[in-house]
Amino acid sequence: MAETTGTTTAIPTKTTGTATAATATTATITTEPTATTAATTTTTGLLVGSHLSTAGGWDALIKRSHEEGGSAFAFFPRSPYGKQSKALDPAQAGEFGARLKAEHCGPLVVHAPYVYNLASKEETKRTFAIEALAEDIELLTPIREVGQEAYINIHPGAHVGQGAETGCRLISEGLNRVLERASGVMVLLETMAGKGTECGRSFEELAAIIDGVENKEHIGVTFDTCHVLDAGYDLVNDYDGVKRQLDDIIGLDKVKAIHVNDSQFGLGSHKDRHANIGEGHLGIPFFTRLVNDPDMARLPMILETKELTPDTHREEIALLRSLVQR
Ligand SMILES: [Zn+2]
Repeated sequence: MAETTGTTTAIPTKTTGTATAATATTATITTEPTATTAATTTTTGLLVGSHLSTAGGWDALIKRSHEEGGSAFAFFPRSPYGKQSKALDPAQAGEFGARLKAEHCGPLVVHAPYVYNLASKEETKRTFAIEALAEDIELLTPIREVGQEAYINIHPGAHVGQGAETGCRLISEGLNRVLERASGVMVLLETMAGKGTECGRSFEELAAIIDGVENKEHIGVTFDTCHVLDAGYDLVNDYDGVKRQLDDIIGLDKVKAIHVNDSQFGLGSHKDRHANIGEGHLGIPFFTRLVNDPDMARLPMILETKELTPDTHREEIALLRSLVQR
């Protein structure tokens, strides 16, 4: 997975011809709970929080979110290596969702473990990813059933030398199998930096994956700010242009969440090294733009930045809120 791509160009790689197909995939979703609307009445309205540890279970997640002053958050539904979580009792998921809903928490953006590879060469690995993702959806379904919006974010997969086109096709096929088993929460495909053989490094690749999924209303996208810059989209100097491409190729209505990270490396570097907010190549002017863009500021924003001190995320949440201009 660590091989280099050999390309450092700032132009995103276009591997499929399906750019126009994406516009046809934007099925209208009208059945979502109203948690987002309700949450906009709290503090500055920004739905922001960090990726939290599940140690201690559902209650501990809520406690940690309160401590950081968050209004949305993420967590891993199982261990990074894919073992089922002992901390998260499925029987209490609905109760957890009801508490979040009562607090007007923003949509959860649960993060699937990194080990899932729907584009693997090996069928056993693909099958593992399909089964585990379906189980994660089942774990989260009671949360959504009580009216608390929840998504499961995944790194689409790495084609490990098979080529991006084959990788994207395998991912679509895998998602079709996942959604046949479980479709209680929407799967969000993360925009990737293009490190190694990652699929989803361009808006076109994500559109191609979505195009191959039958049940399109259960597929969305997470916009990772670090990865998008890393992939070669100039968010600093051409924010509007990047947004236009996103809308043309994927559709803004498919974007359901933001991973809000600065980047240690510059445009098109394909490194995937997150920096703390304002400490990287995106910088404060970019984040000011982001939190004041009505299309983006309505989405849950999840920090995946390093906790330099126990206060880092609390401070970064406050910083992002302070950038909102009234
Ligand atoms: Zn991310």
